[in-house]
Amino acid sequence: MKRILVTGGAGFIGSHLCERLLKEGNEVICLDNYFTGSKDNILHLMDNPYFELVRHDITHPYFAEVDEIYNMACPASPVHYQYNPIKTIKTSVMGAINMLGLAKRVKAKILQASTSEVYGDPNVHPQPESYWGNVNPIGLRSCYDEGKRCAETLFMDYHNSNKVNIRIIRIFNTYGPHMNPDDGRVVSNFIVQALQGKEITIYGDGLQTRSFQYVDDLVEGTVRMMNAPDDFIGPVNIGNPHEFTMLELAETIIDLTGSSSKLVHMPLPKDDPKQRQPDISLAKARLGGWEPKVQLREGLTKTIGYFEGILQKTVVNTH
Ligand code: NAD
Ligand code: UDP
Repeated sequence: MKRILVTGGAGFIGSHLCERLLKEGNEVICLDNYFTGSKDNILHLMDNPYFELVRHDITHPYFAEVDEIYNMACPASPVHYQYNPIKTIKTSVMGAINMLGLAKRVKAKILQASTSEVYGDPNVHPQPESYWGNVNPIGLRSCYDEGKRCAETLFMDYHNSNKVNIRIIRIFNTYGPHMNPDDGRVVSNFIVQALQGKEITIYGDGLQTRSFQYVDDLVEGTVRMMNAPDDFIGPVNIGNPHEFTMLELAETIIDLTGSSSKLVHMPLPKDDPKQRQPDISLAKARLGGWEPKVQLREGLTKTIGYFEGILQKTVVNTH
């Protein structure tokens, strides 16, 4: 049995990861400051004696004897990470320093949840790990993009200078149950709007693309990366290469929900990447043939079911 720390464990992805690690027979410490996460996401784990919940902010040091650390803490939705940009970059940079310091001290293996945003608005398509990106250092998205880029640098430097055993994954747009219904990301926005019969908010012309990965596929890739041989530290892309325009996504969600919602166009946020698609050949080659298994319609159907349950209990504002 390993003792594993999951920062951001009460968030969307973190909560699925905690569940998976507990199922595998590990002891899990879930650390979160509840900025975007919620106890509701982990309520079903509370009865497990091997699950421990800690209210803590990773911009402050934390100490626990653990074998592995999954560093997931950071708001991921543009609306939330732009709410307090200084706090966002502190979470990525100071959080990485604190967690790497802990990993060094207790000799834990540590995995960083990095992002496709390190590629910015990419002019190489699809994006391989060798691409250095096209990122605005002083724009609206910089607090997130540059914070994550700096965290990657810190991980590599702790590895090279202090022999910390690291892993870096670059996560592409992921969706599924436990997404915060009002966090402003496109999948949750469109589903909530469709279920409520409200207008579906397409930013810009809707021809920008994203490649959407169901959360179970991400969790599988993440755990495989943590367990990969020590000579493979990444960064590695974890995403679904099937690429869709936002118009296609809206039409699919309208079809699956049977909604009568109409599309409405709103201004495109500044620096919004035009296209995004992961090159996953490295993950396939080094993570035992890992590749996403869940198709968009199947994943959306599960996610819609989750939001139907949530909406019976909550009032949600998507814009
Ligand atoms: P989320 O907002 O649902 O979860 C983030 C969690 O971190 C929340 O529970 C939040 O309360 C917690 N948190 C934030 N700041 C904290 C701090 N200073 N101290 C302690 N806890 C803090 O987002 P998510 O989608 O689950 O993303 C998880 C990780 O994956 C993030 O690091 C994100 O950058 C990365 N990621 C996600 C996606 C995606 O599409 N979901 C894509 C790329 C990268
Ligand atoms: N988007 C949209 N309507 C919404 C929310 C988002 O058209 O209600 C667009 C957004 O402009 C972007 C894409 O959907 O082009 C993905 O946005 P999201 O915030 O989910 O993730 P990110 O931009 O970080 O990939």
